[in-house]
Amino acid sequence: MTKAKVADGEVAAKSLPIATRSVNKTYGSVVALKDINLDIKSGEFMTLLGPSGSGKTTLLMVLAGFVRPDSGSVKFGDEEVIAKAPHERGIGMMFQNYALFPHMSVATNIAYPLKIRKWPKDKIAAAVDEVLATVQLSGYQARRISELSGGQKQRVALARAIVFKPKILLMDEPLSALDKNLRELMQLELRNMHERLGMTTVLVTHDQREALTMSDRVAVLRNGEIAQIGTSTTLYNAPETAFIAAFLGESAFLHVSARGGIHYYREQAIKVADGQAIPEAGLLVLRPEKLQVADGAEKLPDYNYFDGVLERVLFQGESSVAFVRLVGGELVLVRRQLNESSSLNVSAPGSPLVLSLHKNDSRVVRDDMKR
Ligand code: ADP
Ligand code: MG
Repeated sequence: MTKAKVADGEVAAKSLPIATRSVNKTYGSVVALKDINLDIKSGEFMTLLGPSGSGKTTLLMVLAGFVRPDSGSVKFGDEEVIAKAPHERGIGMMFQNYALFPHMSVATNIAYPLKIRKWPKDKIAAAVDEVLATVQLSGYQARRISELSGGQKQRVALARAIVFKPKILLMDEPLSALDKNLRELMQLELRNMHERLGMTTVLVTHDQREALTMSDRVAVLRNGEIAQIGTSTTLYNAPETAFIAAFLGESAFLHVSARGGIHYYREQAIKVADGQAIPEAGLLVLRPEKLQVADGAEKLPDYNYFDGVLERVLFQGESSVAFVRLVGGELVLVRRQLNESSSLNVSAPGSPLVLSLHKNDSRVVRDDMKR
């Protein structure tokens, strides 16, 4: 656990682990959360990712104490908090709509959680100055919220969430109102701040790129359940199901059957990475950046080859994307960096092509798309 020295010589934790057990929540006939068992390590940056309506906000609100689940347990460290009100849980919170007081000053807004906690005035002023430096708004104490830009409001909301040094920070789509450039900048700053301050952080987002960039681990929710949980690279490179592969990044899928311990696409045996789980019928994931256009007739033993026809090539700046129709009728995307795209650029639409995929990039996943 992350520890920090405090003035009186004791050692105080900067962060706490979170553990939920069998958390269930229904709204009428809607199952918002179903048997959620989630362990978040002390100091971890965990993201809850999923499509709209998958239960992300409900789960965050259960952690915060605004939603009482029908059953289950929520622990912060060793302490069961399920019966505690939000303000008794010691958490920092940040939402998409900043929920700031628009006609009050930056300092008054940030001081609010400290006033509730009855901090003395001089300590409040010092804490406000310190946290404004953390969010890079030093000198903005007297500004009104209504005079700030969207990005600055976001920083004030963050400052207010962390000013009392919570051991747990909960954020629900905090950046989704910002435009792309500012959002990417704030992602970086949030991540840096997390590394400096070290509190356990739970971020809700529906933006897969944001989840992959920011998190130590990502829990993907679907229909109120955790579909898969893991590091960004594990989820991207080793998805367990087609839903996860489709939700994180671009992919095309080929139906494969299994016979005698081997996968087949049509009549073609598919090579997969050594040690991949026992073959069963499923979908072969084709990531656009892992496919190559095979030049020449030579076939290497560690590759799968797919015959197709080039439909079109799109120039996208730093890369090009080719749409290739395979013999089985599937439309597959191939993305290449420009300097290696020559074989795409010289082929006219309608030309036959052969695509190759290394066996280590050939994953067969469970088909869970129709649910
Ligand atoms: P997300 O944040 O992933 O978009 P939510 O947690 O907000 O999803 O919602 C999960 C499901 O629970 C949705 O079907 C939603 O309509 C339903 N739900 C959430 N809050 C309420 C509520 N207060 N009353 C009724 N249904 C709700
Ligand atoms: Mg939500």
